[in-house]
Amino acid sequence: MHNAAFAALGLDMVYVPLRVKAADVPAAIRGLAALGFAGANVTIPHKTAVVPLLTRLEGDAAATGAVNTIVVEGGGLVGHNTDVAGVDAALDEAVGKSIDGEPALVLGAGGAARAVALALARRAMPLTVMARDPAAAEAVAAMARAAVTGARCTASTLAALDAAEVGRYRLLVNATPLGMRGVGKVPGVFADNVTAGQVVFDLVYATTRTDLLAQASARGAAVVDGRAMLLGQAAAAFRLWTGREAPVEVMRGALAS
Ligand code: NAP
Repeated sequence: MHNAAFAALGLDMVYVPLRVKAADVPAAIRGLAALGFAGANVTIPHKTAVVPLLTRLEGDAAATGAVNTIVVEGGGLVGHNTDVAGVDAALDEAVGKSIDGEPALVLGAGGAARAVALALARRAMPLTVMARDPAAAEAVAAMARAAVTGARCTASTLAALDAAEVGRYRLLVNATPLGMRGVGKVPGVFADNVTAGQVVFDLVYATTRTDLLAQASARGAAVVDGRAMLLGQAAAAFRLWTGREAPVEVMRGALAS
């Protein structure tokens, strides 16, 4: 996406994937400025680990405590979170504002769940964050309550997920890596009890049609795929790195190819 966008605007920039082990994250982040990088994206599982290594956080990164985009600025490192904008763009494209104010369930309590919780709380959606570790879920819910005045966000444990619970929400979000190859599947009770009228959003972006979304769609639910969010967060990151408007259709084409 980014390389197609750089080429389309004639920018002398290149985007490269770099795998970094957890133990090497501090050295890698410190090296960005020295190596002449304009910035970086940070992905699973380093989005919160990079926070203490940055000069400052801005906007949604400060609110969520999770960073997916770094801008090298005058030798300093500024952390941003464009996942929040990505969540909004994906929801706007698929269901618009009709979902605002409706109850939502978020599975997961990692960096991506923080972005989802903030975006949904701003849409005045009463929110339950559910994770294996209830304390981690509560930390995400507390973040959203602190960031958005009047936000109704509670925490629960994944063990409480049953058919009745699935039926309570208009929007169901998978913000765990479950569904990625080699990670395991989203709990069957989740997809098996989805009904028409509900909206299922899967952040996993390896394909536009994860097993979860295929099942939800077959059961008549509206679906939102992780690639729409990937495109939205990338367009926002592109603006931060280049100061230019992102050529979104070029990026969409590259993502689909
Ligand atoms: P993360 O910070 O590592 O958090 C992962 C969360 O999932 C944690 O709450 C973790 O719980 C939970 N989890 C992991 N394995 C699980 C399992 N087997 N059963 C139940 N819960 C499990 O990761 P992240 O950065 O939030 O990313 C989560 C997913 O969102 C990934 O698939 C990522 O690719 C995707 N994502 C997509 C976009 C997009 O643009 N579409 C953007 C960001 C992220 P524990 O703490 O108990 O392990």
